[in-house]
Amino acid sequence: MKSLTDLLQLGNPLLYEVCEPVLQSELPLVADWVLDLENVMKEIRAKYNFGRAIAAPQLGIMKRLIYMNIDKPIIFINPEFSDLSTEMFELWDDCMSFPNLLVKVKRHKQLTINYLDENWKTQEWKVSDDLSELLQHEYDHLDGILCTMRAIDDKSFKWRP
Ligand SMILES: [Zn+2]
Repeated sequence: MKSLTDLLQLGNPLLYEVCEPVLQSELPLVADWVLDLENVMKEIRAKYNFGRAIAAPQLGIMKRLIYMNIDKPIIFINPEFSDLSTEMFELWDDCMSFPNLLVKVKRHKQLTINYLDENWKTQEWKVSDDLSELLQHEYDHLDGILCTMRAIDDKSFKWRP
């Protein structure tokens, strides 16, 4: 099983690559990938005291898969967004791949995420505020985009206090 040492760090070229969709035939593998994601997130939480979601490419699994665990685990296979609000908001974002750096970004306040669940069933979920920002952050990982690339300006970086 993958552990914290498998988490890719800022600068790793894989973090800048676009991930491939998960195929239905790969569903048995998804269960293994989710165990890896779950385990690494658990270790991050223990070490850094943050972490609500992780994207598969952060472990070098180049697939369009997001694992989130706030109250309960939820997996998003091949997610897509719709109904992105025109209203935006600014916040200091963070990332497990550079745990001490905060980056000020602008995100859509609301969106709907359409995805497949672990049973390959289509799901949709309307989210706002911090969940909206979290899912935009994780979705970006699937396209090889880090929040450093979305910094509002040159001064939108700070060390975690
Ligand atoms: Zn991240």
